[in-house]
Amino acid sequence: MAPASERPAITAEMLRQLAFDQSIRWSSQNDDLWELIDNELWKLTRNPSLVLSTVPEQTLDALLQRADCHRLLEGVVQAQQEKLARPTWFAGQQFSGKLTGIAYFSMEYMLSEALPIYSGGLGNVAGDQLKAASDLGVPVTAVGMLWQHGYFRQGIGPDGRQQELYPVNDTRQMPIEPLRDASGTPLRLAIHLPGVQIWLRGWQAIVGRNRLLLLDTNDPANPPVARLITSELYGGDNEMRLRQELVLGIGGWRLLEAAGLQPDVLHLNDGHAAFAVLERARSYMTREEVSFAVALSATRAGNLFTTHTPVEAGFDRFPAELVGKYLERYAEYELGITLQTLLAMGRKQAQDPHELFNMAYLAARGCGAINAVSRLHGHTSRLIFRELFPRWPVPEVPIAHVSNGIHLPTWVAPDAEAHWQQLHGDDLPWRGMGQVSVNDLLARVDDRWLWQIRQHARNDLLKFVRSHLARSLAVHGASPADIEVAGSRLHPERLTLGFARRFATYKRPNLLLHDPERLVRLLTHPCHPVQLLVAGKAHPADRAGQALLSEWQQFAARADVDGRVVFLEDYDMRIARHMVQGVDVWLNTPRRPWEASGTSGMKVLANGGLNLSQLDGWWAEAYAADLGWAVGDGLEHDPEHDAADAEQLYQLLEEQVVPSFYKRDEHDVPNAWVKRMRRSMGELVERFSADRTVREYTERYYLPMARAYRQRWAQGSALASALSHQATQLRSYWHELDFVELQWASEGDVHHVRVRLYLGNIKPEQIAVQLFAECRGSEPADIHPLHLRLRDGAFAVFEGRLSTHRPHADYTARVVASAQLGLAVPLELPLIHWQR
Ligand SMILES: *Cc1c(COP(=O)(O)O)cnc(C)c1O
Repeated sequence: MAPASERPAITAEMLRQLAFDQSIRWSSQNDDLWELIDNELWKLTRNPSLVLSTVPEQTLDALLQRADCHRLLEGVVQAQQEKLARPTWFAGQQFSGKLTGIAYFSMEYMLSEALPIYSGGLGNVAGDQLKAASDLGVPVTAVGMLWQHGYFRQGIGPDGRQQELYPVNDTRQMPIEPLRDASGTPLRLAIHLPGVQIWLRGWQAIVGRNRLLLLDTNDPANPPVARLITSELYGGDNEMRLRQELVLGIGGWRLLEAAGLQPDVLHLNDGHAAFAVLERARSYMTREEVSFAVALSATRAGNLFTTHTPVEAGFDRFPAELVGKYLERYAEYELGITLQTLLAMGRKQAQDPHELFNMAYLAARGCGAINAVSRLHGHTSRLIFRELFPRWPVPEVPIAHVSNGIHLPTWVAPDAEAHWQQLHGDDLPWRGMGQVSVNDLLARVDDRWLWQIRQHARNDLLKFVRSHLARSLAVHGASPADIEVAGSRLHPERLTLGFARRFATYKRPNLLLHDPERLVRLLTHPCHPVQLLVAGKAHPADRAGQALLSEWQQFAARADVDGRVVFLEDYDMRIARHMVQGVDVWLNTPRRPWEASGTSGMKVLANGGLNLSQLDGWWAEAYAADLGWAVGDGLEHDPEHDAADAEQLYQLLEEQVVPSFYKRDEHDVPNAWVKRMRRSMGELVERFSADRTVREYTERYYLPMARAYRQRWAQGSALASALSHQATQLRSYWHELDFVELQWASEGDVHHVRVRLYLGNIKPEQIAVQLFAECRGSEPADIHPLHLRLRDGAFAVFEGRLSTHRPHADYTARVVASAQLGLAVPLELPLIHWQR
């Protein structure tokens, strides 16, 4: 062991490493450590790198000499080191040689308060999956934007209206460092915008075993308009959005390569970064000396597109002139294709000059697989992408789903975790050691214990709410008397409901306000009182959303509400964490099917909170009667139906939720409630964890896609060239295909089918001939292959036998490209020819 006098030198560096690691868990020990260094700054910012850079060196040295600080630091460092040294799931599966790495592109990342480069759900998905990838050892390198202002910060004015504030993110106060090349020089890359070359700077953040690379354009050498590209997340006009997406997609891929990375797989978290598909192909073209078509054929096998929106209006679309202005030169000089060819990749109809260029279509045309983020969203997505697959039955539109999940260590309350740990030691289900399930834990505790944890958590939340409220009031100039009583109407024993989300009309944040008097009666019930915490931002351009927000302000201020509704301004990761850890019930009332997945409801699960939610997004697949409550009938409706949903919501609260919460046994424990908690935790925590999500992405997509990409790339892109050639051929001759004759003969319980086709220039081995029957009643759809019997010049005969349990009138013959060729059908080649 080193002599005591040498220890501080080591530990200062250890502290730095802790402060800069975005994967660090907020254990209570960890909390104590930063509190000790600068309590106030830590409490206000939760930014360890800021605390560290602010404290004077002598103070730090002195602190590190103190036994209590030293002990704490040792504990935290050890925990982190043990976590990183533990054998991972990925290594354990012997996957390592099969995958060099995954590049993950996202417009936003929600990792910690210290790095405010997120807005909401999309960033949450990216951040939580990145942390889970580190825990599991999956080699992901993320790429994103260093937003100078991030998303706006919210104030609520005295008139109850939202104010939008844009404080600056100072790079020196965030847990990031410049990305350097091999010689140690900070990376600086050039890309072209019309008429000028601009500079991009590279940064990196550490997320456990993985890294997040960030780009910014705030280089003094850039013209002001370019410096502002990385200013505001989801701010600016359409042209600004296009510039941002060029920087993220094209600049992002260049940054990865400049950092020395050659990932097998590119994962697009939504379509914003779809230009990366072009840049990956361009780089491959140059390196392998092939055409753009061959390069795309090779690289797309390794590109995965995750779509996040359930409505077409959610896609980013740009007018052709704008795309031309920014990309004509790139298309012609760098990709060697015409602007028209590039535009066609973002359109349904290649030749329609009025059709906007759609980033999701570009992503679909540039990827080897597409997935949605919940089961229901898979169904919705197949409908909204169907036009890219004309004449294909909707169920065959090639979009599967991987349901989202959350990173448990980020959202489980540290205090509750400490209690679990006291009972069971380190091996907790959300620590990724994989030995113990949530059900195992639950089996070892009684209802009283579980209920006490809940009570503590609710109490902690209310403490936070009071201090948050007092601070907001003070900032807005409230009187000391008002500040004094702020939150005093909240009570730790009361049923506490939480409701926090983006204030967008489709989320229906005012469904609970449908009958305000009824809500007042619910809240102020003499024996069974309820309190409600509300938070959320409305986009600066969304007037309707802002009006809904003001409606809540006015309601909360009503005298007869008696302070039982509190609006917490500036919804962010911190507020979300406190809310999901402390509330008894999480409410969510979007208009089905507009919530692709939703993740906030998953965050309450491990904390023992219950969900009362619309049957939409993740809840449509998670819900069962004994583990939560559901609004809606599982169908889609027009806004006129809102009244019925509101009625159901009130009824559930009045007749089931509230009575169940207050029905106590002799120890004052609500047994039926706790039973529900057990079911909800036991059934859902692991299923909706980011660990499960990332494992699913790895096994179903990353590994097979890496293999497919490598196969296409091997031997001078031999397979990629062959596939590209096949696809071109089939496209140009497809119109020649024709059904000449179709014969059915039934014998006993077997149909014999014989199809004679005219093939023209197409070869029989290039196609698959099938009989197709739609799903009908309880009968699933049936796709029955026929086999080549003989060829005869430009003609061929295909035959097959199938059972007579469906009548022959159910079947239609069709021809599609053969999957044997190695192309993803119909994603890469959506040709289909039906028997007339
Ligand atoms: C989890 C989270 C979200 C996503 O919530 P949904 O309403 O479920 O989409 C958004 N914002 C913050 C701050 C979150 O923590």
